[in-house]
Amino acid sequence: MDSTLNPLHSTRPDTARPKSPWGRHDPYVSMEELGKSFVGFASLPHQIHRKNVKKGFEFTLMVVGESGLGKSTLINSLFLTGLYSDRILPNTSEMIERTVGISKKTVDIEEKGVRLKLTIVDTPGFGDALDGTESYYPVLDYLHEQFEQYRMDEMGKHRTQIKDNRVHCCLYFISPYGRGLKPLDVAFMKDLQTHVNIVPVIAKADCLTKAELLRKKETIRREMEFHKIKIFEFSDCDSDNDVEWTRQDFEMKNSVPFAVVGSNMQLRMDGRKVRVRAYPWGVVEVENPDHSDLVHLRTMLVRTHMQDLKEKTQDNLYEQFRISRMNMRSPSMSF
Ligand code: GDP
Repeated sequence: MDSTLNPLHSTRPDTARPKSPWGRHDPYVSMEELGKSFVGFASLPHQIHRKNVKKGFEFTLMVVGESGLGKSTLINSLFLTGLYSDRILPNTSEMIERTVGISKKTVDIEEKGVRLKLTIVDTPGFGDALDGTESYYPVLDYLHEQFEQYRMDEMGKHRTQIKDNRVHCCLYFISPYGRGLKPLDVAFMKDLQTHVNIVPVIAKADCLTKAELLRKKETIRREMEFHKIKIFEFSDCDSDNDVEWTRQDFEMKNSVPFAVVGSNMQLRMDGRKVRVRAYPWGVVEVENPDHSDLVHLRTMLVRTHMQDLKEKTQDNLYEQFRISRMNMRSPSMSF
């Protein structure tokens, strides 16, 4: 065989290979090229990164809050999807029925070759039932069932093929009306906190003035502390993070509870397509940080803390659940 046609016997000089984007960390660069002092494990982060990029990322987000607070609109605005464009608003009797119905939608989003499989768990009718305190049990049951299913699968024969349906984050919608948290919010969040990372948001923030919003955020933070409600905690910045990253992180932490505005309407402004809520007196731009915390929330969910949310679900919440299930079984097992 002509050696020039066989890649194993290629006579092409090594230098003909295109320059690697990985630089010194290129796993295909030979030891001769790098010198004997370099073992090569520095390429591990790139290998892991490349493997994950190939596999794609999976993330499950739950939205909880009273009906009509703008949950579906916010999801469309956050992920720039028409996930709920085909939504038909239910009539009252359907709404009551839907208080127990939990719906799940999955969308594949691709950006610059990176795939994200996003699952939204919608709890549309929360708060519509006559007895508010009862209406959140289906949500808690759902979260519990996903943990239990995962635990059973882990103990089963096909551990490598587990379908992970655990919820990584719950956006908890707080009404912009009223002073702070309602008793139902307190009770619900206290039950949710052991099963899911809670990220609180103030819905329809365009209904409040800047001063009202600041007061409301302060009140909610105080009430959460008083009632010992554990929400998702941002891990501290590493000392080697750059100044811009640290500033962004500080702004993001200070924004909690995120004051969000959502809209399905887009306008062309200065040559850009902008998501807005148009009122007779002007427009609210949902992605303008002066108008809404939507961009901070998106940055946190997608760019900076997605992995953290997944790890906290696995290492803290699920682990606690698993241990408590083991403790429940142990008395009978001691015989
Ligand atoms: P969901 O039942 O919680 O999913 O609420 P929807 O997303 O269906 O929104 C209910 C209504 O609130 C619709 O008329 C939306 O146009 C409106 N809405 C959604 N987001 C906002 C917002 O940020 N501000 C205001 N003022 N209205 C909103």
